[in-house]
Amino acid sequence: MPESSNDARRESKTYSGGCHCGRVRYQVTTDLASVIECNCSICSRRGHWLNFVPAEQFKLLQGQDALTDYQFNKHIIHHNFCSVCGVGSFARGKNADGSPMAAINVRCLDDIDLASIKTTKFDGKSR
Ligand SMILES: [Zn+2]
Repeated sequence: MPESSNDARRESKTYSGGCHCGRVRYQVTTDLASVIECNCSICSRRGHWLNFVPAEQFKLLQGQDALTDYQFNKHIIHHNFCSVCGVGSFARGKNADGSPMAAINVRCLDDIDLASIKTTKFDGKSR
């Protein structure tokens, strides 16, 4: 059987996630169909596995006051991280069409079986 990128029938559901210390908490509705493993300077250092969703599918429940906003390069993406525990559990930015999006660090979702996630390598380093 050919290997597909994750199970296409994986249903969209609402996950909870957040940082390590628990100050930053969010909910995101996603099917996790596309999880990106990027080799750019920040993703390789942080070990991100990213899932991009429209901003309306992401809801920050708490922790806005604990977030530090880190930006670099073209300052397109807000690489938020918790100022207490240092974990970057999500980022915010805009899609190419200008619509707001959230980039979820799939590693920070609660009760996720990382072994069941198939990632797609993305060459962000060369961009
Ligand atoms: Zn924290």
